[in-house]
Amino acid sequence: MTDCLFCKIIQKEIPSEILFQDESITVFKDINPAAPVHLLVIPNKHIPSVREMGTEDEAVLGKLFSGAKAAAEDLGISESGYRLIVNNGPDAHQEIFHIHMHVLGGEKMKHPMG
Ligand code: AMP
Ligand code: ZN
Repeated sequence: MTDCLFCKIIQKEIPSEILFQDESITVFKDINPAAPVHLLVIPNKHIPSVREMGTEDEAVLGKLFSGAKAAAEDLGISESGYRLIVNNGPDAHQEIFHIHMHVLGGEKMKHPMG
């Protein structure tokens, strides 16, 4: 998918701060952090959103959790905690249509449900 910003980050066609990359996933810093730690964990496969995922994608999407877990351990927020967010579609303000898991932490956050 040549027109996708996150595919370009995966391919290193545009710069980003990549913390981890393997054959399945890429973990990099969000360019506009909403918390002291704000990472994005993405599948290397271009899947626009959960709406387009298939059962064949279940394994790679499970790896997003493993990537988030490992990154949280590396950055020392594993015990203090962190929030994982996957925005899907317009009502959730998804801006980049390549599935991504936000990892937010490093401070006490407000409860998301108010
Ligand atoms: P979402 O609203 O869930 O689609 O989130 C998209 C996220 O991508 C936002 O938090 C942006 O700050 C982030 N973002 C956009 N462009 C870049 C980029 N070039 N490098 C890193 N993060 C980015
Ligand atoms: Zn993509």
